[in-house]
Formats: sequence, C-alpha cells, structure tokens
Amino acid sequence: MLELEDLDVAYGDIQVIWDVDLTVDEGETVALLGANGAGKTTILKTICGDLAPKSGSVRYKGDEIGDLPTEEVVPRGIAHVPEGREIFVDSTVEENLRLGAYSNPDGSDGRLERVYEIFPRLQERSGQRAGTLSGGEQQMLAIGRGLMSDPDLLLLDEASLGLAPVLVDDVFAAIERINEEGTTVLLVEQDLDSALRVADRGYVIESGRISLSGTAEELRDDERVEAAYLGG
Ligand code: ATP
Repeated sequence: MLELEDLDVAYGDIQVIWDVDLTVDEGETVALLGANGAGKTTILKTICGDLAPKSGSVRYKGDEIGDLPTEEVVPRGIAHVPEGREIFVDSTVEENLRLGAYSNPDGSDGRLERVYEIFPRLQERSGQRAGTLSGGEQQMLAIGRGLMSDPDLLLLDEASLGLAPVLVDDVFAAIERINEEGTTVLLVEQDLDSALRVADRGYVIESGRISLSGTAEELRDDERVEAAYLGG
C-alpha cells in the first residue's frame, strides 16, 4: 500500500533522513521506532505532504505522492494525526471532529457515530470546548478527527505521549480496534512495549537511517532495539 524507497529528506541544507526503505501492506499496523530526534516525525510529515523528499520516492497505492501537498494527499485516503495534537481549542469536540471530514464530507454523520462508538468519552463531551479536555481526551479527539476523513492509512505520531498508563492502554486498544475494522496504521511511538504489542512489524530508525526491521516479535526479543531508544 505504502512504499518508501531510497528516501532522503532535508530541512534546507541539513539532511536528516538517509536512504530509507519502508513498506506498509494493506491491513497492517507498522511501528516506526527510535530515539528523540531520530527522524520519525520527519518521515510521517514527508508521507502526508508537509515536507517534500530531497530524493527517492513515496508511493501510495502505486502512485508517486512524494511531491504532492497535504491537500492532495488526504483525499487519496491518508490521514495524519500529528504529535502535539493540534486541535482547535476554542471549538467544541464535535466541531473539531466535523472539521476532520472537510475533504470527504459525504457520510460524515455515520463516521461521527463510529468515532463516538470507539471513543464514548468524546460523545459525552461533544459540546465541550476542546481546549478544556484532559490530555488523554485531546489525544482521542485528535485520532477521532483523523478518522473523520475515512482514511485507508492512518499515520499516528506519538499517540501515547504524556498520557497516564491507563489512558495509554485505552488509546492503544482504540488503535487495535481501528486496525481490525480495516484501517492500515503506521505509528511513531516512544512507548516501545505498547507499540510492539499492537504492531505487526516495525522499523528502528537511528540518526535518520533504518538500522533494524522485523516482526514485532523479533524486535521485542532484540536488545538492539532498546539500545537504539537510549540513543546508543
Ligand atoms: P521526536 O521523537 O523527538 O519527535 P523524531 O524521531 O520524530 O523525534 P524528527 O522530529 O523527525 O525526529 O527530527 C529529526 C531531525 O530533524 C532532528 O535532528 C531535528 O532537530 C531535525 N528537525 C526537525 N524539524 C526541523 C526543522 N523544521 N528544521 C530543521 N531541523 C529540523
């Protein structure tokens, strides 16, 4: 479904991603793992059109999308839930969710119902101003908003960041359910255990290069993964 090949990405003159090859097959959950600053967010931003590759390719369903802007990537079925949530704090929960459907408004009522089924807490708080939600609720809202475009591929950046353990479990249970219901997931995660519990496969990135890849089981048993996290 998604293929990155020989991908290089730079901010101005500073290259931060080198020769990345990565695939995500339809139906999978794939984890992109690595220490702070390794380049995980940069890869997601390149896939969703926030950044353009320096060279190499980003293919989605057989089409080259590397140079397309976000507004042309989203309608193809890719949703990006950025790190730091980026919700509209002065809008209500429901208004935020409906904004997520802007690229694909037909059938948004049904999708809203589905989001409320996955995250009942959001339904309880549908009229509440998003800025007054707890951190965990804001994270659910960000994921819910991503689902409102009815994506085939969901890119999740640090979905569990800053959440209490019990909420981390809730968010990962939701991710598993979203995947079981047919959405392919590529997630960036700092919580190694949770990520490898829900993922089928994973890639470890160190200083902008893929250093290891394998099934979740292989990576769980490989001590080099933890070492990569510790940055060394
Ligand atoms: P984290 O887990 O801390 O978010 P990450 O693996 O997602 O880390 P990136 O955010 O992709 O890492 O950053 C990769 C590298 O690119 C880092 O060295 C970072 O400082 C650099 N970088 C990120 N954004 C920019 C930018 N806008 N301009 C210049 N350099 C940047």
